[in-house]
Amino acid sequence: MPIDKAVEFIISLDVTIIELFMDVPYAHPYNLNKKIINNLNKLKDMYNISYFIHPPCYDLNPATLNKSLQKEIITQYVYSIKLAEELEARGMVVHSGHLSLPEANREEVINSSINFIKNLTEEAYKRGVKLLIENTGYGINSLFKNHLDFFEYLKRLETDHPIYSVLDVGHAYLQGFDLIEAVKSLKKMIAHVHLHDNKGIADEHLPLGKGVIPLVPFIKTLKKEVNPATTMIIEIAPNPVEKVLKNLKNSIRFVKDI
Ligand SMILES: [Zn+2]
Repeated sequence: MPIDKAVEFIISLDVTIIELFMDVPYAHPYNLNKKIINNLNKLKDMYNISYFIHPPCYDLNPATLNKSLQKEIITQYVYSIKLAEELEARGMVVHSGHLSLPEANREEVINSSINFIKNLTEEAYKRGVKLLIENTGYGINSLFKNHLDFFEYLKRLETDHPIYSVLDVGHAYLQGFDLIEAVKSLKKMIAHVHLHDNKGIADEHLPLGKGVIPLVPFIKTLKKEVNPATTMIIEIAPNPVEKVLKNLKNSIRFVKDI
C-alpha cells in the first residue's frame, strides 16, 4: 500500500500522531515522489495530525565499524532529515545501532554510534528537525545492558543542542532495563515512546497485552513522570495482515484505559 494511502487508513482510527516508517519496499526518503509528499502534507493539514519520521533500518546498522557503510547510512539519514523538514515532522527517529558481532569491542561500537549521530546533528538543527535517539539492538548484540548504560550514552551525545530519546519499550524489556527506573532517570530526555509487546525473547512487536511486558505500570509511570508533550505510538507488526486494524484498535484502547 502506498504510504499516503496507509496514512488515510490509520487516520480512520482517530489518532493524532503517525510515525512514517520509511523503508523499502514500501517507501524510501530517497525516492518518495512529490505527489505523495504533497498528499501527506494535505492529510496532515486536513486532519490536524502530525508526523514522526522513521528512517530506513532493515539493512542498516548505524553503529557499524565499517566506515564506508556508515557513510552511506549517514547519506540515507540526511535524506530522511530533509523529508522530515518537508513534512514538518515533530521529530525523526535515529537508531543507536548494535554490535554487528557479539565479540566486537562494545566501547568502540558505542563510539562509532556516537560518531554517527554527531554527523547528523548540525544538518538536523539547521533544518529544525528534532532527532530522537532510539534504544535498538538486544541480547548479545545490544550496546546497552541496562537503562543506566542508555542514560550514560545519551549524556555523551549532549552538545550545544539538547538530546532527546525515543524510548522503545519492547527493546528496553529485551535489553534488561528496569522500565520504571528508566522512565524516572530519562524523563527529561524522553520525547517519544514506541509501544509494543513481546514474550521476552525476540523483538516480536506484538499487540499490547499479548506478551509479558508489564505495560500497565510502565504507561502509568510515563503518564505521571514525563513531559506532557511526550508522544506515544503503537508500533505493532502487521502480522497477520488481516488482523492489523483490530490489533491496532485494541492496542489504542489498552493505552486509553490506563
Ligand atoms: Zn526503530
